[in-house]
Amino acid sequence: MLVAGNWKMNGLLRDAEYLADKLASRNIQNSKTEVVIFPPFLHISAVSRIVQKANIQVGGQNCSALKSGANTGEISCEMLLDVGCSHVLVGHSERRSLHGETETSVANKYAAALDVGLTPILCVGESLEQHDLGKTQEVVLRQLSAVKETVGLGGLCSGIIAYEPLWSIGTGLAALPSQAQSVHQTIRSCLGSPGAKTRVLYGGSLNSENSLAMFVEKDIDGGLVGGASLQSEEFLRIIKLAEQL
Ligand code: PEP
Repeated sequence: MLVAGNWKMNGLLRDAEYLADKLASRNIQNSKTEVVIFPPFLHISAVSRIVQKANIQVGGQNCSALKSGANTGEISCEMLLDVGCSHVLVGHSERRSLHGETETSVANKYAAALDVGLTPILCVGESLEQHDLGKTQEVVLRQLSAVKETVGLGGLCSGIIAYEPLWSIGTGLAALPSQAQSVHQTIRSCLGSPGAKTRVLYGGSLNSENSLAMFVEKDIDGGLVGGASLQSEEFLRIIKLAEQL
């Protein structure tokens, strides 16, 4: 199981340190559950120092596909690695819809992350309109294919996939576990045998009330948590639920 917390653009440095401190106090003995948190870029160094002994990993919420140079405002994968990151979110729906990320730019970022040894978490998912038109599987498969064409099946399978229906992100309306499971099964089939060990996470309005029902589904290997990861007690409760499995 893997539980990831996406802090998005929330909090000041002192809030990030406070939250990291609270998480670092979790009891990790015998825990097989991996925990990764994604603070804003500016807070990564401080957070990473605080949580390193608590077996909590840290990641970037985005990265550049480019290595270095005249790219004002961008952060490279190597820079993320350098400040203690092990993971990076790629193609989060907010990046795709609010910041114009295309299938090609997402695929290039995924490749850049793999290149330096960061584990990319590829976010895929359909809009409400696509969901209502019954196009969920088609959309998700297209998003996976775009990355597969760039990094190959082996490359795709060496990262992590997060299924995040857009209509569920930040709405309080999580998918039904059976709905999510059916998409996860499609993702798993697309990955085939090289993807037998690839983690496929669910994200979208997870909390301590609905996470367990999601985590027990056969093809759901954990969660990507947004809003609920900003409250330490709630996030720790979700981690505890994953630890039961
Ligand atoms: C997310 O942004 O990745 C997310 C899942 O958000 P929330 O849990 O708030 O729906």
